[in-house]
Parts: sequence; C-alpha cells; structure tokens
Amino acid sequence: MSDESQELGITETKSHKPGEWYAEVVQKANLADYAPMGGFIVTKPRGYAIWEGIQDALDTRFKETGVDNVYFPLFIPESFLEREKDVVEGFDPEVAWVTQGGHEELEERLAVRPTSESIIAPFMADWTRSHRDLPLRINQWCSVVRWEATETKPFFRTKEFMWQEGHTAHADDEGAWEEVWTRLDQYEEVYEDVLAIPVLRGKKPEHDKFPGADTTTTVEALMPDGKSVQGATSHNLGQSFADAFDITFADEDEEEQTAYTTSWGLSWRAIGALIMTHSDDQGLVLPPTIAPTQVAIVPIWQADTKDEVLEYSREIADDLEAAGVRVELDDRDERNPGFKFNEHELNGVPLRLEIGPNEADDGEVTLVHRPDSEKAVADREGIVDTVEDHLDEIFDRLYETAEENLEENVREAHSPEDILGTIGKHGGYVKTPWCGDQACEEAIKEKIAAEIVMQPLEDEGGQSAGEVPEPEREECGVCGEPADEIAYFAKSY
Ligand SMILES: [Zn+2]
Repeated sequence: MSDESQELGITETKSHKPGEWYAEVVQKANLADYAPMGGFIVTKPRGYAIWEGIQDALDTRFKETGVDNVYFPLFIPESFLEREKDVVEGFDPEVAWVTQGGHEELEERLAVRPTSESIIAPFMADWTRSHRDLPLRINQWCSVVRWEATETKPFFRTKEFMWQEGHTAHADDEGAWEEVWTRLDQYEEVYEDVLAIPVLRGKKPEHDKFPGADTTTTVEALMPDGKSVQGATSHNLGQSFADAFDITFADEDEEEQTAYTTSWGLSWRAIGALIMTHSDDQGLVLPPTIAPTQVAIVPIWQADTKDEVLEYSREIADDLEAAGVRVELDDRDERNPGFKFNEHELNGVPLRLEIGPNEADDGEVTLVHRPDSEKAVADREGIVDTVEDHLDEIFDRLYETAEENLEENVREAHSPEDILGTIGKHGGYVKTPWCGDQACEEAIKEKIAAEIVMQPLEDEGGQSAGEVPEPEREECGVCGEPADEIAYFAKSY
C-alpha cells in the first residue's frame, strides 16, 4: 500500500473501539460529515444515495398499499401541540421553538416539528366526513427535530433526522390493527430483503410506547456489538388522537362515529444499522441491493495494453449497465489499480471486476467479493448472469452472517444476577418472564444500562390486538412475583 492509501484506510477496529470505528467509516467512506452546530450532520452524496434507496423501497410498498404522499409545514403552532396533552408531555423538553420572524416577535411560538400528529390530525378531521372517506392513508418524507443533548453519532443520534411518518384513519379497530401490521411487515421486508438485516418483531412495554398510543409495535435489529437498534415503529393510536382532534365520520346510518388512527415511521437510523451490521475494519460493506455502485470495474494496463484493456472493459461495463446493474468503470489515469482496489473496498462496492491484458486476451474476467475478498475467474460470455449470481451470493452471505449473530444471541435468564451476567458477558437479547412492573426494568437499567427493548407478539393472524404470549415459567426474572408476560432486555442504540 502506498502512503496515500494508508491515509485513506480505517485506523480503528470494529471489535475494540466500535464507536470510533463507526465514526471513521462514516467519514472516510464519504457518507456524512459533521455540521458546524453540534447534533447536526451533512449527508454527502453517497450517504444520501443510500437513503434514496431505502426511500424507494418503502415508498413503492406504501403506494402499492393505498398510501398517498403529502407535505405539511416544518412549524407547528404551540396551540396545536397543546391540544394533545399526551404528545406535549412526551416531547416538550425536546422541542425547538421559533419565537421571532425577521425583526418581529411572534404572537404565538412555533414549534419545529418533533413529529407531526398535532398538525396533521386536524386536517385529517377535515378530510374525514363520511365512512366513504375511510380508510385515509397519508405519508410524508421530511426531517424532524428533537433537541436532545447527546453526543452526535451520524444517523443514530442527531438533533435533526430524516424520516417518513405515515398517518392513517380507519372506521374501526380491526382496520387500524390491519394497518399497523401492514406497515410493520413492510419495515421488516425492507430490513431483511433490502438491507440484509434480520429483525425481531415485537411491541414496546406500556411505559415506553409512543405518547398517546394504545400500542407501539417495533422491529429490532441486533448489531454485532450486542446492542439492539429500534429499526422502525408502527403505532396503534386507538381513538386518543381522534378524540383530541375530532376525527369523526358519519357511518352508514348517518350516525357520528370516532375514527381509529395509526402512525408509523422509519428514520435514517436504518443507515446506521446498515453500516454497523455489515462493515469491517477495511471500511464500509453494503449489500448489493442498496449499494449505490454494485460493481466497480478496475482495468489494469501498461502503456502498450491500455487501449485493448480499456475497450474490453468498456464493453463489459456497457453490457452490465444495459442489464440494469449499477456499474462504475474506474478508468482514472492518475490512480494505480492498488489505490482503486482500496478505495472501492473502503466505499463498500460489493463486487470488483479486475481486467488486465490476460483477461482481455483469454475472454475472461476476475471477480472479487468485497466482504471476504473471495476471488473467481469467469468467462466474458454470459458475464451479466455471472455478475448477478455473484451479487446474490454476496447478499446471501451478509444476511446469513447477520442471522447467525441474531440466532446465537437470544438467551434466557431467570434471575437478576443471570440477566445482568448474561448481558454483561455476551450482550444480545435476554428473554425473561416479566411481571409488568417498570420498577423491574429500572433495577436492571441502573446496574447495566440495559432496558426492555421489546416484548414478543402472539401470532398476529392479520387481526390480533398485539397480545404478548404467556411465559413458560411464571415468576418475573427480576422480582420473582407472578409474571404473565415475556420481556427482552438488551442494551440499545
Ligand atoms: Zn418483576
């Protein structure tokens, strides 16, 4: 390696200093940079391209299932936030306020949206007159601001973050539940099929649900460092928001009824989980499904072979591009092949094609997998199919590795010592019977900063109401009192 390529590389290791390693991968793989104000980041083109990939995958699914996109203002009048006391109590300390516009002091403070229920709900009330207007399903892609004073961690902890928030209204409870499961299914699909991250589905304990919600369901992903990431949430809001904001409708008998509402969101924390799950000490690793560049072609030439090698490489690039593969022909003159290899590795390009004069003469291509440097030589003939097979194989291996990590790291424990010891030693999830008392969570949290990240769900069968199955043993793993619920403890991001 040249000095230049060493500078380019990652200096921290994932296993020893995951925090520093993560920050370095984000910056050196050109995903994001720190903004001048603490708590904010600048998303660079490669990072934004990943976000766009996630957006595309979700937005397509939303639209196929009856959702329309809308856009509401960044600011919410204070009086609107006040209308739903639960929401205000939930978010008040984290709200950023605008008190002045130009030189004028505002008559009413404006909140920078921490979430948009309180401005969207009144309009949903307006748009919902008759049972024929239901279900109403809208979504917006935007950013929200929560003024939490924590250390900045790109995509995981920032005061402003990008997300989508879906809001729906239904004529009955069954309709709302069906909606909650549809969105949770779609989040699960995007994590598993697009980001190659297996997730657990569950619900948040009562004391940790979204303010005002009946039930908050979640998909949780386990990171290689043993911490859980809340991947996305889908809330059944019951009638609390509909009551507060008069979302009512005339039923078939012209009787006025109160609607049932849901909301659901996924943020760019998904990018954080993606980086953390697959990447290694050489830099970013991305599954081909989300990689902005899936294949980098690096031609290797001497002065007398340059034309031949480049022409051969270009034909292959054209074939791949025509087949819809996101391919980059790296024909930069000023960089040597070694530098290019390192750079594409750092940037997480899943598959590299190396093409020198031997390959051009023999009608062959050398393929190198990013995640494990596995090498193969293939015929030029049928290169599109070959490349697609290799991309699939790379995806499968990344998924399998993440799945093994998840499967090996759900453990049972039945006493406080056992819970603390298991999380302390292995990380991951600890499954235990729970009495339902928040104090039992606190007892664990105080000692090891792990909390109840989720409770498993009964088989939903389409229209369940989010019940938690009964544990096999009947004593709470923390206090020993009777327990009829199961809880998963873990440290979390
Ligand atoms: Zn207990």
